[in-house]
Amino acid sequence: MTERNMCDNMNCPFCGKEMQSGILSGDGRSAVTFKPGEKKTGWFDRLIGIDKLTAAKYTLTAFTIEADYCPGCKKMIFDTDIKG
Ligand SMILES: [Zn+2]
Repeated sequence: MTERNMCDNMNCPFCGKEMQSGILSGDGRSAVTFKPGEKKTGWFDRLIGIDKLTAAKYTLTAFTIEADYCPGCKKMIFDTDIKG
């Protein structure tokens, strides 16, 4: 795979089936959730701040991570880096 557009789903490296793209999010008070669908744009993206995991985009009260989920393997994958 040489190129990956935001709208392309990736295949699971474990079982090879198509994964579901979505947004992992949480706010520390409620459960962490995963919503299938397109990346949210707008104010979330403009509030990227003090990241530890670079995949996590923080707002004042919540975080979001773009992730791919395999319903078959019950696994999620997301691109990130660790910044101290
Ligand atoms: Zn899988």
